Amino acid sequence: MKILVAVKRVVDYNVKVRAKADGSGVETANVKMSMNPFDEIAIEEAVRLQEAGKAKEIVAVSLGVAACQDTLRTALAMGADRGILVETDVELQPLAVAKLLKAVVDQEQPDLIILGKQAIDDDANQTGQMLAALLGWAQGTFASRIEIGAGEINVTREVDGGLETIAIKLPAVVTSDLRLNEPRFVKLPNIMKAKKKPLAVLKPAELGVDVAPRLVTLKVQEPPKRQAGIKVDTVAILVDKLRNEAHVI
Ligand code: AMP
Repeated sequence: MKILVAVKRVVDYNVKVRAKADGSGVETANVKMSMNPFDEIAIEEAVRLQEAGKAKEIVAVSLGVAACQDTLRTALAMGADRGILVETDVELQPLAVAKLLKAVVDQEQPDLIILGKQAIDDDANQTGQMLAALLGWAQGTFASRIEIGAGEINVTREVDGGLETIAIKLPAVVTSDLRLNEPRFVKLPNIMKAKKKPLAVLKPAELGVDVAPRLVTLKVQEPPKRQAGIKVDTVAILVDKLRNEAHVI
């Protein structure tokens, strides 16, 4: 089985995100970038399937600026066999990403595609679902456990109030939830080995995909600053303030 994993380069989850002064977007200059955490989980799952003898090849795909190569090298260090970068400076929205991934899938013919359930920068939670629709493939979203069977895959999904397990036919699209696994720590020798693994670079035009944005960002703003709190001496004062100042009781 061949597995394709989509890995996105995003602002590192430890960074406190700042809006640009003109409100046109999020500040990314001199900001630490990393692999989207859900995509690390997706790669980890693919590597575990390979280690269990259930997958032959893992191809990591990233779409975006040239620096996404770093994200792909991390995926290769975690255990992916080769990488594909679809390079563009255009800001990619989920539909464009899904179309580009479909074009890569048409070339690569994987049996399974694993994506993160959402990218922590746009929080869109759209790409996997759009890709499954474009391909006409089954989808198992928010996976917290997957089990490969003969020609099908069981996906346990985190739903409101519990877990749902579905059986879907391969080829399929799966999106990873937080509890699917805990990604491994990348060791230095593997980082060195990853430098030698193949990494192909394609352009959207070669894949015949128009990536022009369809949505316009009107404004990005930070949440209002929280007011400093105060200490009160008695419960009576607290109740009075909650009732007459905050108007919450
Ligand atoms: P989203 O729909 O934007 O929340 O993203 C969901 C998932 O789609 C991510 O976790 C990635 O696996 C994949 N994805 C989205 N954008 C990209 C990108 N530019 N490059 C690679 N994968 C992406």
